[in-house]
Amino acid sequence: MIAMAQTAVRREKRRLLILGGTGEAAMLASEADKRFGAKLHVVTSLAGRTKQPAPLAGETRIGGFGGAAALAEYLRGDAIDLVIDATHPFAAKISAAARAACEVADVPRLVLVRPVWRPQAGDRWIEAADAPAAAKIVPEWGTRVFLTVGRRDLPAFAGHPDCWFLIRLVEPPPEPLPFRTENFELIVARGPFTADAERALMLRHGIDIVVAKASGGAGTEAKLIAARELNRPVILLRRPPIEPGQVAERIEEALQWIERALDSLDAAADKVT
Ligand code: NAP
Repeated sequence: MIAMAQTAVRREKRRLLILGGTGEAAMLASEADKRFGAKLHVVTSLAGRTKQPAPLAGETRIGGFGGAAALAEYLRGDAIDLVIDATHPFAAKISAAARAACEVADVPRLVLVRPVWRPQAGDRWIEAADAPAAAKIVPEWGTRVFLTVGRRDLPAFAGHPDCWFLIRLVEPPPEPLPFRTENFELIVARGPFTADAERALMLRHGIDIVVAKASGGAGTEAKLIAARELNRPVILLRRPPIEPGQVAERIEEALQWIERALDSLDAAADKVT
């Protein structure tokens, strides 16, 4: 069931807010614009972490809203009819704010989630609650570490002078990393990567352990395939729980949700008028 927005009036174009910052959000914006562009205006919201974000279909707005109450105000003020939370699975604050704001503003919300990774035969996965917990156990498993946890979680790993880190980030860091020069190498690259390329990278750097976020989805799983093939352990940072609500795992499901939601909104508006 799709809830009826309080301001159920027929409009030439409905407005969809996609909370973005992921490849999936960009793809969804493009597909939603292509499929429903005649009756739907697509706005993608980015936090502003990336200096030069790739162009997105539809409109883009950048920067935090200022919390859940302010997001609810934005939804009302910008006459947003539908929200799809397509943020990264570890972006828990904005997802919680989106849930609260949509409840307050009575706007239907869908969470587009990445399917969780399931271990396969040959996988040697160790789950860690968070970055400090992962950092604590790293030396038990290896000393040449492929670290792909994102910039904010790096400091937790800086206290291991006996380990060497191959750190991969999507953008150059704004300030020097908190590691001794001889303890790391930084590569800046944006996926998706192939398992062959990941395996070659790991062999070239003598990697004996991988540390990553359990983000799920196909886009970043190549390093896990490479680790399995090379029989390397992987420490995975546990993914935060998904905010309750309607959930889709595929772009196509999200597009079908949009279609149903648009029909419901129009039907509700027809009843009112
Ligand atoms: P977060 O901890 O959930 O959010 C922190 C604050 O950033 C939020 O409270 C909100 O500020 C603002 N924010 C986050 N996403 C936003 C969006 N799409 N539009 C407008 N404001 C947003 O999120 P995070 O982990 O810092 O991630 C920030 C962005 O990077 C997200 O959009 C996420 O999709 C993307 N990303 C995150 C990761 C990751 O590992 N966390 C990886 C890849 C991409 P206000 O409270 O002021 O509204």
